[in-house]
Amino acid sequence: MSAEEIIQKIKYRFNTLQMSYSMEGELAQILRYLLVNGVDAEAFFAEFMAEERSSEEPIRKNEAKVLLGRFRERAVRLTGIGTPVSRTGSEEHGKTVIAWVEEDIKDDPIAKALIARADKVEYIKHYKDVFNAKGHDFKAEKRGGSFIVAKNRDTLIYPGAPFCQSFGNEHFYYASCVKNCLFDCDYCFLQGLYPCGYPVYFVNLKEYFDELDELLKKIPVYLCISYDTDLLAMEPMLHYVEKWVSYAQSRAQLKIEIRTKSGNYSVFDSFSKLRKDDSTENYNNIVFAWTISPKEVSNFAEIGLPEVGKRLRALKAAKAAGFPVRLCFDPMIYHPEWKKSYSDLFERVFGEIAASEVEDVSVGVFRISNKLLKRMRDTNKSSPITQFPYITENGACHYGELSSEMVGYAIEELKKYMPVEKIYAWQGN
Ligand code: SF4
Repeated sequence: MSAEEIIQKIKYRFNTLQMSYSMEGELAQILRYLLVNGVDAEAFFAEFMAEERSSEEPIRKNEAKVLLGRFRERAVRLTGIGTPVSRTGSEEHGKTVIAWVEEDIKDDPIAKALIARADKVEYIKHYKDVFNAKGHDFKAEKRGGSFIVAKNRDTLIYPGAPFCQSFGNEHFYYASCVKNCLFDCDYCFLQGLYPCGYPVYFVNLKEYFDELDELLKKIPVYLCISYDTDLLAMEPMLHYVEKWVSYAQSRAQLKIEIRTKSGNYSVFDSFSKLRKDDSTENYNNIVFAWTISPKEVSNFAEIGLPEVGKRLRALKAAKAAGFPVRLCFDPMIYHPEWKKSYSDLFERVFGEIAASEVEDVSVGVFRISNKLLKRMRDTNKSSPITQFPYITENGACHYGELSSEMVGYAIEELKKYMPVEKIYAWQGN
């Protein structure tokens, strides 16, 4: 039974309950969240009402609003991730791997190397002809292996998004030389951002560097290059991280961050050989940042990704090659045992890596714009993360009061291992 059908039954059974249209929407979302957690949502609601109400008096909207808040609280506290449910979306495994390639860049060396990986090539005028077409199945396309090769003709270096951590850097910018990711995290915002699941590889990296050089003439820049992809995971195929390292090492005004969940440690040997004599000392302007989640989250939401031990091995290899390293406990994902999960994770991580070896850490709860969340929910209907009944404030969705509780707890736990100055927390600013 769908949440909408349960609402109809609730309205019939509790006919003294007066709800506005938006309250019905909120209730439907809580019911959806219960359903994806395998809970009998109708019975759960009936049980709640039996405890809360004994009289048949009308429940006016103001009172219903309060009741709704309590119902949400109960649903959230009692349920959460941990019960893997089947994924939606058809499989594309075993299908022909297609490369859609923009006609005018087909002779580019990077394009040629990528094309060689496909079973079939289709030439197109502009990547958006495929990427923005209607009728995509984002999840299936991610698994299918087909891809798009293009030239990015839009702005190449642009200001960082307000939901992202700037680590105290004044001029925070962002570059996206690949759209989409080989991984498929359940909480990934790309599900809401892009209509299409195929990765788009932009081959005009040199133009990114030229645009950045122009910006660097005006201001020092902190640039994140791996937010809506995982460049390190693609390195054996794409070699873009190598190119960024070569470029960035002699630009003292530039600091780049390469965010990853990859366990790819062997590449750091070759990166250490790239160092130029006049480079920034010890590659200190190229930060590799690993996002790490507790196993209670990764078992459910990071299926197929390298486990913590592999990520830490890669982090140690980066450190040994002379790169500053960062740990990102972000996004923290709510589940009933979240306190223990995150404490255990910190203990494990800092049992393997001395906190003094790490440049800094970031913490932050899952948060996203209302607009993106709506599309994520449509794309990923069976996930307790996308279907969680988030609180919406000023267009941003998050855990409400729980957000500060979770971040506050994480900071206190992390302070056992490192000075507070090394902890960057996303507090919604
Ligand atoms: S690694 Fe990052 S970009 Fe890739 S799927 Fe996961 S959250 Fe998305």
